[in-house]
Amino acid sequence: MAPKAFIIETAKRRIETLMRLSVDAALHGSKYSSRYVELAEQIRKHYRIKKDKRFLFCKACLMPLLPGKTCTVKIASSKSFIIYKCSKCGHELKLHY
Ligand SMILES: [Zn+2]
Repeated sequence: MAPKAFIIETAKRRIETLMRLSVDAALHGSKYSSRYVELAEQIRKHYRIKKDKRFLFCKACLMPLLPGKTCTVKIASSKSFIIYKCSKCGHELKLHY
């Protein structure tokens, strides 16, 4: 049986590969981008790995959020929020700044 640290490292590498693939798929208009995110989330939840803050995706349709391509970005300065609106389903992700 492999040590736990090795298993976690392998899982993290797989998640990163899947996230990179999902971004590439979204940029080229492929339908598999949300499937890659779904697989990465399954691996992340199974091994209880923390979310990567650099990579954003829509929680409703699992589309990677790429400003100008798959989402629009608004700044609500009065509430100090950054709002990412998914262009596929319209779901909004609000991040506090
Ligand atoms: Zn969406």
